Amino acid sequence: MPPEHPLIHQVDIEAIHGETNIAIPENGLPRVVIVGGGFAGVELVKDLAGANVQIVMFDRHNYHTFQPLLYQVATAGLEPDSIAGPIRKLFKNTKNFHFRFGLVTKIHPETNMIETSIGDLRYDYLVIANGTRTNYFGNQKIASLVFPLKQLHQALDLRSTILQNLEKALLVVDKAEQHALMDIVIVGGGPTGVEVAGALGELKLHVLPRDYPELDFRQMDIHLIDGGDRLLGAMSPEAGKKAQEYLTNRFSVNVWLNTTLSDYDGREVVLSNGRTLLSHTVVWAAGVTGNLIGGLPEETIVPRANRILVDEFNRVKGSQNIFAIGDISCMVTKDFPKGHPQVAPVAMQQGRLLADNLQALLRKKSLKPFKYLDKGSMATVGRNRAVVDLPGKIKMQGWLAWFAWLFVHLLYIIGFRNKLVVLMNWFWNYFTYDRATRLIVRPYVKEKFENLHPDAIR
Ligand SMILES: Cc1cc2nc3c(=O)[nH]c(=O)nc-3n(C[C@H](O)[C@H](O)[C@H](O)COP(=O)(O)OP(=O)(O)OC[C@H]3O[C@@H](n4cnc5c(N)ncnc54)[C@H](O)[C@@H]3O)c2cc1C
Repeated sequence: MPPEHPLIHQVDIEAIHGETNIAIPENGLPRVVIVGGGFAGVELVKDLAGANVQIVMFDRHNYHTFQPLLYQVATAGLEPDSIAGPIRKLFKNTKNFHFRFGLVTKIHPETNMIETSIGDLRYDYLVIANGTRTNYFGNQKIASLVFPLKQLHQALDLRSTILQNLEKALLVVDKAEQHALMDIVIVGGGPTGVEVAGALGELKLHVLPRDYPELDFRQMDIHLIDGGDRLLGAMSPEAGKKAQEYLTNRFSVNVWLNTTLSDYDGREVVLSNGRTLLSHTVVWAAGVTGNLIGGLPEETIVPRANRILVDEFNRVKGSQNIFAIGDISCMVTKDFPKGHPQVAPVAMQQGRLLADNLQALLRKKSLKPFKYLDKGSMATVGRNRAVVDLPGKIKMQGWLAWFAWLFVHLLYIIGFRNKLVVLMNWFWNYFTYDRATRLIVRPYVKEKFENLHPDAIR
């Protein structure tokens, strides 16, 4: 695991002293253990509620994260709480549901047991729904210096860093160092990279100049780097082209295509085309890899992608009672020879189908194979600008696409309160050109704050 950034206080879920007892009673019902309360796990529990099973969910967080809006937390558009839902609250009315805040560390298929950070537990059915983690492609040095965007605390860390660097930029006299503090490099031109670039562009245009009138934001450069020959590689060429046009024309984002990051030391970014940029903030949106848990046979794992091979019922290859759903699973079909796309709708649909199939299994009925209903893909690039590809080669761009993007995201955020808070924030941001949450949520640490480039402090 890459080291976390220094000022983040992580909850240490292993810091329990003495023996632990997971304390889940055997109640005679078949026990379904679910690893992960993400999109797949949550849908599975929703649809399994009321079934004659005992449900035990583990997650390393006590909340579900709506990852598609993490970038808005990172760019001060939304409060973290509005894109997360406490798992206990989500299922407070679900009978026979138990949640445990812990990390599942090993599976023992031969004894139907899992090891976790808080003890061992037996299962009748195990569902692995623990998603993916950031892929640094094995580069530990880069992993320790860049800012990933996969978990809530990472979004908060990025937000604080951006703002803290601007506070530092006010203090420096060295122009190059001021650039390094203000400029931001984003690696990865998929939806996340594009959305981060657009949101930063809006911050630079509308919000930051008001907060920091002493800084000249025409000097703030936003760079977006991608190894492919266009942005949004998984969407249509038209969507990629339009997104690039929006980013460059509206926000002057520098888009570097056919380019990768060769090296980074925390300040100097070396690109594969030989160019060097200066930035203390490199956002890593370059990809994900499976969050593998040890114990499954090697032949069930897809190398590099680290996904678990499953059959058409999401059953782990060679197993009768272990299932994998969502991003971690790889179901190879004629239409999806490399597995389904790692997106929320696949995870949700697999979660729902598995709820039906587990109940069918208990009733000794036949199982239904998974068939993905693709509703399209979308990305937004700031206000009134988005790109949407719908099934049947239908494409939308501009404000209509943006409106569709808003609607879909609002629809899928968990909880009525969250929907309301997000909607209010969006209204506020839209009409005031403001962002409500520009807090640096870190303690002030003098040495760290003054740890600027030599001779740079005013
Ligand atoms: C920044 C970003 C933006 C995205 N935007 C979009 C988008 O716009 N549209 C879209 O469709 N998809 C989007 N995605 C992808 C989408 O979020 C995933 O496809 C979806 O979350 C997959 O759901 P899942 O249930 O498989 O995994 P996740 O939602 O990732 O959930 C996995 C859960 O498992 C927990 N966990 C992990 N390991 C363990 C362990 N060992 N023990 C216990 N718990 C564990 C995690 O804490 C997490 O809660 C985005 C992803 C990111 C990162």
